[in-house]
Amino acid sequence: MKIFRTPQSLQKWARAAKLEGKKIALVPTMGYLHEGHLSLIKKAKAMKADEIVVSVFVNPVQFGPNEDYEKYPRDEKADLAKCMEAGATAVFFPTPANMYLPGHSVYVNEESLSKGLCGARRPGHFRGVCTVVAKLFNLAHPDFAVFGRKDYQQAQIIKRMVRDLNFDMKIVVAPIVREKSGLAKSSRNTYLSEAEKTSALAISRSLKNLKPGGSVQAVAKELEKAGLKVDYVECVDSESLEPAKKVAKGTTVLVAAFAGKTRLIDNRSF
Ligand code: AMP
Repeated sequence: MKIFRTPQSLQKWARAAKLEGKKIALVPTMGYLHEGHLSLIKKAKAMKADEIVVSVFVNPVQFGPNEDYEKYPRDEKADLAKCMEAGATAVFFPTPANMYLPGHSVYVNEESLSKGLCGARRPGHFRGVCTVVAKLFNLAHPDFAVFGRKDYQQAQIIKRMVRDLNFDMKIVVAPIVREKSGLAKSSRNTYLSEAEKTSALAISRSLKNLKPGGSVQAVAKELEKAGLKVDYVECVDSESLEPAKKVAKGTTVLVAAFAGKTRLIDNRSF
């Protein structure tokens, strides 16, 4: 498994791999890898990529001033071992300084799908995500990139970016990997106390119990009853992400809620 630390070294290698006719897959992550991330690497393997590049980068540009950029968990050694075990052929560990040169002034903005949901609550978040992902696409020359459905809005936005900016590649979206308890796996779960973890179970449970025709207000109530602070519970059209009147086929219900200081997200498509 190769390790790249500079954008230039990854780009040079990826260009050579493409010239040799290799099929390249990219799995962008912020590290502190868990089985959710590993499922994306395995998906790339199942899709017969010759090279599977995992990027591990806590991207400062997608964090708001009061968010957890500094304390976001990091463990390079464990991430390397997990990447190797899951079948990655290359790992990219850039630094903020070599991803964002002094005076960096070009950003990618998606202007429709990112208006609501997390985009409304985390101003600038998807601008940071789109910018870093566009850069990663230009560095790794992937034939396809794998994203998780856990970040449903993000996956929709990246698909739109690829379509609208003519990136010559496909986006693959993989299912949500959960703990046995139902809690969606997340690097941020490591922040949770046992009591918060128990409260957090209300998120997956209420989504699971939701039926077509059911109400998002009832989900919000259940979350509050469990001790969570609801950021939003919304039902949207699964493609346009426009608000939908009721939970029905073709809609997705998305949840963001705080367990203590930890913001958790989950969703379910109908
Ligand atoms: P992150 O490191 O949280 O930025 O996530 C990197 C990628 O892994 C994104 O495409 C996420 O959607 C995906 N991912 C994170 N958690 C999960 C999960 N529990 N199941 C599936 N994919 C996930």
